[in-house]
Amino acid sequence: MAKHKITLIPGDGIGPEVTDAAVTVLEATGVKFEWEKMDAGEAAIKQYGTPLPEMVLDSLRKNKVGLKGPVTTPIGSGFRSVNVAMRQTLDLYACVRPARSIAGVGTLYRDIDLVIVREATEGLYSGVEHWVDREHSAAETVNIITRKNSERIVRYAFEYARREGRKKITAVHKANIMKCTGSLFQDISREVAAEYPDIEFEERLVDNMCMQLVKKPNLYDVIVTTNLFGDIISDLTAGLSGGLGVAPGGNIGDEVALFEPVHGSAPKYAGQNKVNPVAEILSGEMLLRHIGEKRAADRVWKAVCAVIEEKKVLTYDLALAIDPTGKSVKISSLSEMAEEIAGKVENM
Ligand code: NAD
Repeated sequence: MAKHKITLIPGDGIGPEVTDAAVTVLEATGVKFEWEKMDAGEAAIKQYGTPLPEMVLDSLRKNKVGLKGPVTTPIGSGFRSVNVAMRQTLDLYACVRPARSIAGVGTLYRDIDLVIVREATEGLYSGVEHWVDREHSAAETVNIITRKNSERIVRYAFEYARREGRKKITAVHKANIMKCTGSLFQDISREVAAEYPDIEFEERLVDNMCMQLVKKPNLYDVIVTTNLFGDIISDLTAGLSGGLGVAPGGNIGDEVALFEPVHGSAPKYAGQNKVNPVAEILSGEMLLRHIGEKRAADRVWKAVCAVIEEKKVLTYDLALAIDPTGKSVKISSLSEMAEEIAGKVENM
């Protein structure tokens, strides 16, 4: 069997621990991988003087597929987000974040099956911003929305829906207030939707969408939106379906695809073998589907669901969601949970 060559970026904080866990589970499927390990973020600054060395981008351009842990971004000052730079440089325009209920995860709803498709190269993440005066008493950010990038993200969402047998697309914007940027995204969504009569199409204003998702999440299927709205909505849907510990994601372009969890580097938990590895493992499941290893991906999903449902080997976040006192549930470590999942994958 040919090996899949994958760029592996462990990242910062809890990144190295959760990526190790994901590699253990992916290897348990029997699919053959060759991992090309690359440093980005704080680890790269120490060694190369930059958070995003060119060799990381070259490795992704060459291998076409990557698995990444979270990378720390300093707030306010310091270096620009490595994640935003990677998405823009490699044109990873579609940030795909599924939110699925897993039986046994303590959540308000049991039947969530949503996918957020977020435009990831422009909008309010364009990085075009400045102070208006020397006193820093006012600042401006430019919200860049283009026909080209809006059209390709909406088309991506419709093609994804067709491929995955999904029934409905909801386009989310704020066209009532953002008369140019919002209306452009709205108009293009309608134009593209007209080419896909087999898929139901509707629109929501972003504020209403958040309320609707909290009240009736199972009315929605695939949600397509601009960069910042997608970032916020996908954290909301992560919360609805079990929290950041179980929320995976993929950054997909026409050439390269990079899979990573929704969560960040949670520096306060770094090196404690404590956090939930499932979000990174399920990002690996998405990677398996992307490289055509569907059967292996199904085994990973089933193993994750089985371990969570059995409630015997759970990290603190899942255990405390079942019993906040921690008295009636055992709290396991990150590596114990990863090994339990890997063991199930091997025996499936
Ligand atoms: P965070 O997601 O790192 O952590 C917020 C909280 O969520 C944690 O304190 C913890 O309680 C919980 N959490 C996160 N991951 C978890 C897991 N796997 N298991 C259990 N609980 C988990 O968010 P933050 O504190 O806002 O950001 C920390 C750093 O991560 C920042 O520098 C931020 O810029 C960066 N970040 C990176 C990415 C990325 O690389 N894609 C994404 C988001 C944030």
